[in-house]
Amino acid sequence: MIRSYIALGSNLNLPKQQVLRAIKTIAATPGCELFAQSHLYGSVAVGPGTQDNYVNAVIAIDTTLSATSLLNTLQAIETQHQRERTVRWAARTLDLDLLLYGNANIHTPELTVPHPRMFDRDFVLRPLADIAPKALLRHYLRDKLGDHAELDYSDNENLWVLESDDKAITS
Ligand code: ATP
Ligand code: CA
Ligand code: CA
Repeated sequence: MIRSYIALGSNLNLPKQQVLRAIKTIAATPGCELFAQSHLYGSVAVGPGTQDNYVNAVIAIDTTLSATSLLNTLQAIETQHQRERTVRWAARTLDLDLLLYGNANIHTPELTVPHPRMFDRDFVLRPLADIAPKALLRHYLRDKLGDHAELDYSDNENLWVLESDDKAITS
């Protein structure tokens, strides 16, 4: 089993429900077991034009699927959610990005792991920090963190916890 981290995002057609439904679908996929789920976050869209706010989350799964099969599975789930590909970073019903696949480094035309833009994105790092071991974060974030012990994980006008009463689920 490979511990894998997946980022979920939606800003169209009831985003919170899109994200929660996708987590259920991934958890029910043969060869995938849900291990942990972050809080849900709201975030201001950084894509082109004026877009609605996003709902973001990160989950950890344990999987027997290869990284390529997992990506294919995630893309099939996006399609089930009527994801349309128009211009880059346009509003979307569901985006599923494969952040980490064990400690693999993958560079194929279809798949780059770790996800190349994840370390620049607070809407990925903050939910990841809910569920990832500190050692993993420090490993991947050592350049970004420098002398700081941790990132600043407080709410701000661009990123906020949607459900502060629910504890992040870890098992
Ligand atoms: P970004 O990649 O900056 O988050 P995006 O999520 O909007 O942007 P998409 O249109 O969803 O980009 O994906 C474009 C392509 O990225 C996909 O077709 C897929 O082949 C490729 N890709 C490469 N690495 C990954 C990864 N780690 N997770 C998901 N897709 C990836
Ligand atoms: Ca993305
Ligand atoms: Ca994507």
